[in-house]
Amino acid sequence: MIEAVSSQAELLTDVLKDVAARFRGGFSPLVVFDIDDTLFSTAKRHLRILRELSQEQVWAAALGDIKEASLRYSIVDTAKACGISQPPQLGAIREFWVARFFKNDYLLEDEPLPGASAFCRDLKEGGATVVYMTGRDETMREGTLKALAGRGFPPPDSLILKPRFDTPDLEYKTESIERLRALGSVTAAFENEPAHINLFQAAFAQSRHFLVGDKHSGKAVAPHPSVIRIRDFRRFDIMPVQ
Ligand SMILES: [Mg+2]
Repeated sequence: MIEAVSSQAELLTDVLKDVAARFRGGFSPLVVFDIDDTLFSTAKRHLRILRELSQEQVWAAALGDIKEASLRYSIVDTAKACGISQPPQLGAIREFWVARFFKNDYLLEDEPLPGASAFCRDLKEGGATVVYMTGRDETMREGTLKALAGRGFPPPDSLILKPRFDTPDLEYKTESIERLRALGSVTAAFENEPAHINLFQAAFAQSRHFLVGDKHSGKAVAPHPSVIRIRDFRRFDIMPVQ
């Protein structure tokens, strides 16, 4: 455990050093972050929606007691694991969730991964151009900016959102790569989706690429061998020797 946290600290510190060196060299070092399940955990947002559904529907009462550790990536899988198996009920859960999960007010439930906001602030201070590139769409800009500011993240140098809600994330991120090239030189990228971090790796092979945490959509994609795995963004909380 000690090695894992310690090496994560070193790897993240290396990004700060790269940024500082490139900034001194007259470049605009870009650091690109996905938001959902990369900088922020979406768990509290899921739990609020389940709690609200449990208060509206008698058959959904058990969903109100679900703990964070029992959440699955998909809300339907979470409900199934909680014993709900009727297709009409699963359909209703999905509909209730879709109507709320992407709303600005609900985004404020999200909590940052440990160390995430401090890391972004330090990058900014070191001369980084901080880019948030998310699968959220333009209707979520207001809540996203509010959530970032409220949780201590630096204001974005660029916040890239999907123009259309129904564009698949991978397609949108592929198209957005060119926008990144116009903003500066990508020093590092952080993602929770293996397919997305592989996209960055292919586009910016000389940069550092990080796969954060273990929440992703479950698509069977192996991260490129050069992709670095980290649990979160802690650089200082080294676990004490037991
Ligand atoms: Mg994500």
